[in-house]
Amino acid sequence: MKNITILGSTGSIGTNALKIIESKPEEYRVLAITAGRNFELLFKQIKKFNPAVAAVSEKWMADELRNRLKNHSKTEIYWGQEGYARLAALEESDTVISAIIGAAGLLPTYSAIKAGKTVALANKETMVMAGPIIMDIAKRLHVSIVPIDSEHSAILQSLQGHSRKDLSRIILTASGGPFRDLLPEEMEDLNPASALKHPNWTMGEKISIDSATMMNKGLEAIEARWLFDLSMEQIDILIHPESIVHSIVEYRDGSMIAQMGIPDMITPISYALSYPRHLETNLPPLNLEEIGSLTFKKPDMEKFKCLSLALEASKIGESMPAVLNGANEIAVDSFLKGRIKFLQIPSLVEKTMTKHRVFPIESLEGVLEADQWARKTAEKELLKL
Ligand code: NDP
Repeated sequence: MKNITILGSTGSIGTNALKIIESKPEEYRVLAITAGRNFELLFKQIKKFNPAVAAVSEKWMADELRNRLKNHSKTEIYWGQEGYARLAALEESDTVISAIIGAAGLLPTYSAIKAGKTVALANKETMVMAGPIIMDIAKRLHVSIVPIDSEHSAILQSLQGHSRKDLSRIILTASGGPFRDLLPEEMEDLNPASALKHPNWTMGEKISIDSATMMNKGLEAIEARWLFDLSMEQIDILIHPESIVHSIVEYRDGSMIAQMGIPDMITPISYALSYPRHLETNLPPLNLEEIGSLTFKKPDMEKFKCLSLALEASKIGESMPAVLNGANEIAVDSFLKGRIKFLQIPSLVEKTMTKHRVFPIESLEGVLEADQWARKTAEKELLKL
């Protein structure tokens, strides 16, 4: 029986993780859960799963929750950054699912690793911002970080039983998002509703926009670099509209090992919890004869400027990936609020990166400084667009 902590239980990954736990009471128990602002959903989750601890972002929410739960449950309620960090490090927990969105996930994830917990990682922004620091502490403390992202889960599965010495490169597949077949001039006036309509996956808002700009694939390349100890030259990206092959590892003799499955996050979340075993899920089987053909092509780096910017930021390294991430979070949020147009997302990220003077990253404080700088600069640049 594993005790599971979920950072971000009210999100898309978090609610899927709860479905898996609910379907396997003999394997998993919910120990702790967190929300940001979705207080009502967290309340329902506490009543249903009766966790030992829960956390929210603000004190008034914690007070209100304690009040409402008085006669229903003994769940302890924490709040704020300190609350998330304490909850992430609970002694009784076996696995911490890191599924808060964006830079807000960094400190709680770090806290879980520092406490020696196995981390099932969805929050790729942690690796983008602070990959070397995270991998260094995980290595020193012998902590496993098991990816939840379907592409990284596919790479992990394709590495099993092979010698790392024989790996030549990996290929991350990408659906290409909802605008994959549009001409650049057709992308001028795209609105948030159309950008949020992903053809193959159902996800939270931020990652859906990142998929539409293909920033998501760039963030994933950086995540893969650190998780699997690769150089950027060993990472290729291919558009694969069917989203059936989730990623591929190529070995020196030319063999390619790929992982396939229907595009549903239940599979990689379940694998991250049961790794290295594959437990049953309630998903329908993949029916290859119905799909018929699988296609692959190179991404258009001009059209998907965000992807080139992410790869460039990774090559520059040091504070630049955290700046890329911070500027992108401001840009995506501004697009969702109607403050900027779709094609202004890459412009804002690029302008912020151009203004940045790269500095070496030696600690988490440095990462947070780069992140704050990027957010302030992007806000200023936004006014000039
Ligand atoms: P959602 O937006 O659906 O959920 C985000 C979660 O983070 C919610 O629980 C939210 O709480 C919480 N949260 C947001 N802001 C804060 C904050 N400032 N402090 C504390 N908690 C906060 O995101 P997803 O589930 O889609 O994505 C989560 C992570 O997983 C991302 O890093 C994403 O890249 C990654 N991922 C997601 C996939 C997917 O299919 N969705 C696939 C692969 C990776 P609340 O809602 O209560 O405010």
